[in-house]
Amino acid sequence: MKVLVAGGAGYIGSHCVRQLVAAGHEPVVLDNLVFGHRAAVAPEIEFHAIDLGDAPALEPLFAAHRFDLVMHFAAFAYVGESVTDPIKYYRNNVAAPLTLLETMLKHGVRKFVFSSTCATFGVPTRLPLVEDLPQAPINPYGQTKLDVENLLKALARSHGLSFAAFRYFNAAGAAEDGAIGEDHDPETHLIPLAMGAAQGHRPALQIFGTDYPTPDGTCLRDYVHVDDLSRAHIAVFERLATPGAQLFYNLGTGTPTSVREVIQAVEQVSGLKVPVVVGQRREGDPPALYADAAKARTELNWVPKFGSIGPIVETAWRWHQAHPHGYGDRPSS
Ligand code: UDP
Repeated sequence: MKVLVAGGAGYIGSHCVRQLVAAGHEPVVLDNLVFGHRAAVAPEIEFHAIDLGDAPALEPLFAAHRFDLVMHFAAFAYVGESVTDPIKYYRNNVAAPLTLLETMLKHGVRKFVFSSTCATFGVPTRLPLVEDLPQAPINPYGQTKLDVENLLKALARSHGLSFAAFRYFNAAGAAEDGAIGEDHDPETHLIPLAMGAAQGHRPALQIFGTDYPTPDGTCLRDYVHVDDLSRAHIAVFERLATPGAQLFYNLGTGTPTSVREVIQAVEQVSGLKVPVVVGQRREGDPPALYADAAKARTELNWVPKFGSIGPIVETAWRWHQAHPHGYGDRPSS
């Protein structure tokens, strides 16, 4: 398949690009490099530094290629910022994909794979989270993702668009060969912050709350390897052959892991102590989020290769040790 990967220089998108190549597909990457890294995409892959909301720039790209499918990873994903600057989030996460979808449909491309999130569920009414639980996001970030899910449903009916929306749980880890990994600026995610603190490159890790109704008082999350996420995106191709297919999958390992367990895993893998301070709960953090991925397992034959936190952290650590300042292409690197 010839696949346009929007956001292909970002964390999950760049891993998916490599998995596409490994599976014999032909990715073309589009990324405005606001958060993406040029070095995360191999030089032999066709790359366009354009914004997915830039219709005049998209036109020649779609005219020059016959894409079979578009994957969309290019979203802003800082929950706190989405609360303080919702316009930025609606512009980038809703208006820009609208332009991308409009352009692709105009050019007869009718298959779409969308990065959604477990944040579309808000505070879960039941655990583990199955696909058809009520979706009630508690922040603009989750709402923008849900808005796009709803737009896709409408386009499936109006234009025969076939789509898959994957609700990721906590994407983690790095490529097994250590070639690419996680580099956010600013970094807000638990695993890279814990590794940076262990190495003394970052301040002590602040644990956001130890008074949750969980076994050790810290939040439970479902950490899923970024390459496992990527493989699901490719496993769904066959099902997208049906015009108007509307597919939703929760992607997680189903294993709840606490913040303290993540810290222990980082200490075990690195052989270093993670300095911690106990802080307040972070606003908007539900006590527990973990997936029931039975649907992906049954329909896509998706079985995560990385089933627990230790091996996931091992891959993250390999990348982090070799690249303590990420790709080194940002002023704060
Ligand atoms: N967390 C923490 N300290 C940090 C960053 C995160 O205690 O500096 C906790 C956070 O409260 C959550 C878990 O780690 O329970 C995972 O947070 P992350 O930001 O990595 O992902 P999220 O679950 O927000 O998508």
